[in-house]
Amino acid sequence: MPHYKIAIIGAGPAGYFTAQALQNSQSNELSFSIDMFERLPTMWGLVRSGVAPDHPKIKSVSKVFEKVASEPNFRLFGNVEVGSDLDIEEICPRYDAVVMCTGSNLGKKLGIPGEDLPGSISAAEFVPWYNGHPDYVGVEVPLDGDTAVIIGAGNVAMDCARMLALEPSELDVTDTAEHALKALHASKIRKVYIMGRRGVEHAAFTAPELRELPKLEHTDVIIDNEAVQSANQRASAAGEIDKQLASNLEAWRLIAENPQSGHERVMEFRFLSTPKEIKGEGKVEEIVFGVNGIKDGKVVDTGETYSVKTNLVISAIGYHALPIKGISFRDGKVENDNGRVLGTNIYTVGWAKRGPSGVIGTNKSDASDVVKLLIEDLSPEPKNGGDITVVLPQAKSIIDQVAWSKINTAEVAAGEALGKPRLKEVDKEKLISLGQ
Ligand SMILES: Cc1cc2nc3c(=O)[nH]c(=O)nc-3n(C[C@H](O)[C@H](O)[C@H](O)COP(=O)(O)OP(=O)(O)OC[C@H]3O[C@@H](n4cnc5c(N)ncnc54)[C@H](O)[C@@H]3O)c2cc1C
Repeated sequence: MPHYKIAIIGAGPAGYFTAQALQNSQSNELSFSIDMFERLPTMWGLVRSGVAPDHPKIKSVSKVFEKVASEPNFRLFGNVEVGSDLDIEEICPRYDAVVMCTGSNLGKKLGIPGEDLPGSISAAEFVPWYNGHPDYVGVEVPLDGDTAVIIGAGNVAMDCARMLALEPSELDVTDTAEHALKALHASKIRKVYIMGRRGVEHAAFTAPELRELPKLEHTDVIIDNEAVQSANQRASAAGEIDKQLASNLEAWRLIAENPQSGHERVMEFRFLSTPKEIKGEGKVEEIVFGVNGIKDGKVVDTGETYSVKTNLVISAIGYHALPIKGISFRDGKVENDNGRVLGTNIYTVGWAKRGPSGVIGTNKSDASDVVKLLIEDLSPEPKNGGDITVVLPQAKSIIDQVAWSKINTAEVAAGEALGKPRLKEVDKEKLISLGQ
């Protein structure tokens, strides 16, 4: 029976679902050994460092990942960064196939004057800051003003806004990183704007996220009723309203009609606003927006502007991948043809392949499709390249599955004592020592 060796780079949802698809494809005629490489000493990708702390149920998918990792044909090499600790050229000859599941973690830029002023940050920095990603602990998040502005009309923008607008005690029982929790408790921010360039009907928020807003206990959520009605009219005039849009528009109606409770914490949505310039002397003090209209279904600049005084602007307008040595990237993604990196034994799955779209589950079907292609391409004779351990960096402490289980157990135990799902360790060296 042919036995193939597969390397998976990146321990996020795409990586684990790829391993699972390989495990499920095994038969009497086909078997696999799977080696997974992850640059951090912690696993699960954005399930750990992206998904909002106040949505703990979503993180339960990690149980599936740990089940995959407990199979005898799975080895973990954590704390190994491909492209710097280990080159792709050292990996490829040792495996029958290599699957890049490295995600898409750099924030897209607004491209406006003042964007680089202190106080203007990307969701790609703010989110991993509150989620305890070791590389983002030091991000400067000014929380001393009364107003924050989030730019973007998708679920990531919504997560950022909730984290700033929730009563911090609501986060005490979550796995929000301790440094962020402390800062959020001291935060003076009471008003959070979420700004969208296009109309309400174009926003990419999903209905479940919108529907939870009127239920927030300590935060009033505002959307102008007229903006919702105009969006309804425009959507109806444009033709049949699909199920998803109908559900979103209904959720917006409920938000608009929900009576305000006079909470001091407020989240307000504004649409048809394009950021033009961030102003300030040495730090963010104000952001200027252009007012848009909609003409013949298209967004047009009306020439009018307005500005909002703020010390904190967070842009949540998408992600692109950080290039990795030895891999060709195009448009912020691994250059690929349906997951195949042509002319190589490399494949790609997840956000590295598709760009930053799709929920956790999307990566499961993606993995299963790419694994089918990978199996089609396997040569009848396995490669039998040498074992990777020969070229692993000697100076690095490798986090294997046993070490990762120790880290995971230690964090959960530390959290339990405080009524939290886990207490995240954010220092790489301390994480490594928890695994020993
Ligand atoms: C803020 C935010 C909130 C989200 N919330 C939800 C939600 O509530 N529900 C939902 O279903 N989806 C949510 N998503 C989407 C979901 O997280 C993604 O669909 C999913 O994580 C993509 O999986 P991935 O494996 O492609 O990438 P990632 O999850 O980013 O995993 C990539 C992994 O590769 C590792 N890596 C990167 N480079 C290297 C390298 N050179 N060598 C070794 N390892 C490397 C990274 O450290 C990381 O662990 C959210 C996304 C974001 C950004």
